[in-house]
Amino acid sequence: MDPKKNLKKFCRFSVDARVYNGVVRGNMVDIVEGDLFGDLSDMRMSFPVDHIKFLPPIIPTKIWCVGVNYASHMREMGHEPPREPLIFMKPRTTVIGSGDPVRVPEWAGRVDYEGELAVIIGRKGRNISEFEALSYVKGYSCYNDVTARDLQTDNHWIRAKGFDTFGPFGPSILVTERLPDDTKITTRLNGNVMQQDMISSMIFPVSRIISYISGFATIEPGDVIATGTPAGVGRVKPGDRVEVEIDGIGALINPFISD
Ligand code: MG
Repeated sequence: MDPKKNLKKFCRFSVDARVYNGVVRGNMVDIVEGDLFGDLSDMRMSFPVDHIKFLPPIIPTKIWCVGVNYASHMREMGHEPPREPLIFMKPRTTVIGSGDPVRVPEWAGRVDYEGELAVIIGRKGRNISEFEALSYVKGYSCYNDVTARDLQTDNHWIRAKGFDTFGPFGPSILVTERLPDDTKITTRLNGNVMQQDMISSMIFPVSRIISYISGFATIEPGDVIATGTPAGVGRVKPGDRVEVEIDGIGALINPFISD
């Protein structure tokens, strides 16, 4: 039996200018009451996915990102192997949902997509061991760590990574503590596959990343950790469409427009 079959795919969505929490079930979204970090109860009312607008599945508490976490991407960027996870953050004003446009100012120069697996933290913790780290996970989603590559020469990366709309996230959160090692992540640019790898190719696995971050900062419910991108990053221009798809979660799809 497919172990992912009975897992919930939590989402937030709008229809007719009203906002709901939902659970994706095939081509339908069921309205649920409650919240992701508590109990969810079915409201026995559904909409076809085509009739709704996905919103970011949560508004993150904090957004952590890991740089250089796949060997293939490390080689393409000419980086040295990292001895410990390279952590940076993005502001909450980067967050948009699936279907929302990424706005690219011309002065930003070259802008790249970076398809990534996002981890959603479910409970508060500090100094967490790798062994217990996954018990702090609420679920997983798709993330696009949009980056103004020409501006990444700032040594803090905040400007290059922190433009409004540079953090598409969603469409749903697969509620589980652990994903199978062979879970595949794929990024498409205008329908063409540009990135594809298994999450097991990460240099630092999710458990190590959580343990590392919690060694210096408290992680909280609603923290999102984008876990790094595989090889194949590339330029995206206004008029393009980028899709980040992860097995069992779905596809995060965003058009890029000029700002
Ligand atoms: Mg990245």
